[in-house]
Amino acid sequence: MQTNKNYDNLEQSYLFSTIARKVREYSEAHPEADIIRLGIGDVTRPLVPAVIDALHAAVEDQAKQETFHGYGDEQGYGFLHEALVGYYKSHGVELATNEIFISDGAKSDLGNILDIFGTDNTVLVPDPVYPVYVDTNVMAGRKIVFADANEANGFLPLPDESVECDIIYICSPNNPTGAAYDRAGLKAWVDYANKQNAVILYDAAYECFIEDETLPRSIYEIEGAKSCAIEFCSFSKMAGFTGTRCGWTVVPTALLDGKLNKMWLRRQTTKFNGVPYIVQKGAAACFTEEGMKQIKETLGYYKQNAKVLAATLDELGIWYTGGKSSPYLWLKCPNGMDSWTFFDYLLENANVVGTPGAGFGKNGDGFFRLTAFGDQARTKEAAERLKKLLQK
Ligand SMILES: *Cc1c(COP(=O)(O)O)cnc(C)c1O
Repeated sequence: MQTNKNYDNLEQSYLFSTIARKVREYSEAHPEADIIRLGIGDVTRPLVPAVIDALHAAVEDQAKQETFHGYGDEQGYGFLHEALVGYYKSHGVELATNEIFISDGAKSDLGNILDIFGTDNTVLVPDPVYPVYVDTNVMAGRKIVFADANEANGFLPLPDESVECDIIYICSPNNPTGAAYDRAGLKAWVDYANKQNAVILYDAAYECFIEDETLPRSIYEIEGAKSCAIEFCSFSKMAGFTGTRCGWTVVPTALLDGKLNKMWLRRQTTKFNGVPYIVQKGAAACFTEEGMKQIKETLGYYKQNAKVLAATLDELGIWYTGGKSSPYLWLKCPNGMDSWTFFDYLLENANVVGTPGAGFGKNGDGFFRLTAFGDQARTKEAAERLKKLLQK
C-alpha cells in the first residue's frame, strides 16, 4: 500500500488553533475580561420560519407510504432546480435545469470538481485566499501559481496576460477580503479565460450580500462566461444552512460542447447519492415569497453589523475593503503593525478578537479580518471599543 504522497506537501494551518490558544490564555490570566469575538466565520441566526415549516412538512412526508422518498436523483430534485432557474432569472441569467447540480455545500463541490480535470493543469489562485482552493489542489499534486491581491489593486487582482494557467479560482464577494468585482473586472477574467482555454471556478457563496445593483451576483451575468465558468453557490450564508448543508453547482452545457456537464453528471452519479429530500425541501422554501422576505431580514441583521463596523473604520480613517457587499471587513492594521501584533493589541486593549490576515496568505500580513456574523449589541459594543482604542 502506498499513501498519496501529495498529502505530505500540505501546509499545516495553525491559524484558528493559535487564535483559540491566545484567547484561552488571555481569558485565564484575566477572568474578568468581557471578550467579544468578531472572528466568527459562521452564521449565528437560526433558520427562518418558512424553511423550518418546509423541513417539518418534509419529515411528515417521510412518515407516510404515499409521500415517502428513497433515493432521489443524484443531481437533485426538479422542484429545487426549477426554483434556482427562477432565482437566476431574477438576476437576468437564463439557465437550463440540467445545468444545475444540487450539492451538500459549496466546499465539497469546490474540491470534488477537480476530479474532472487533469492533474497536469496549472492552477491560479489569488493570495490571500480561502485555503480550500489551495489544499484541494496540493492533494492532487497540481502546480499552483498565485495572483497578488493587495492594497494597490484593492484586493481585486486582474489577469496578467503573461501568466499561463488552466484553472482559475475567483471568489466574489471575497472571503477573506470582502472585496467584490464589478462587471469590468469579471469581464477581464472571462476574456482571459476564454483566450487561454482555461476554466474559471467561480465561488459565489456571498452573492446574497451584494447590495450595489451594478455589481454582478453571478458570473453568468458577464458575456462569454458560459463557455469558461463553473459557478458554485450555497445556502450556507444565504439562508443559514452551514449546519443543514445544501448548495449547488452550475456547469453550463456551453462549456467544451457539453463535455464538462456530462463528465460532472457522471462523476456525481458515481460518487454521490444526493442531498436529503428533507434538506432540499427546506432549501426550496427559501425561494417562496415568504422565505425570501424572511431570509432578507436575517441578512439585513448581519448587514447592519457590517455597516456599524464600516462606519467605525471610516471614522477612524482606517483603510479597508468589504463591509458593503460582504459580511467581511478587511482592514489595514494601524501604525504599520503586522497581523499578529495587531491581534494581540486588540485582544489586550479592547478585548476584541478578529482574524489575522497573515493566516490567509503572504499578502494578508499587515491586514486583519472582522466579521459581521455576531450579535448586534455585541458588535456595537466592539465598535465603541475600537473607536476608543484607535482614535488619534
Ligand atoms: C462559507 C463559504 C462557502 C460555503 O461553503 P458550504 O460548504 O456551502 O458551507 C464557500 N466558499 C467560501 C469562500 C466560504 O467562505
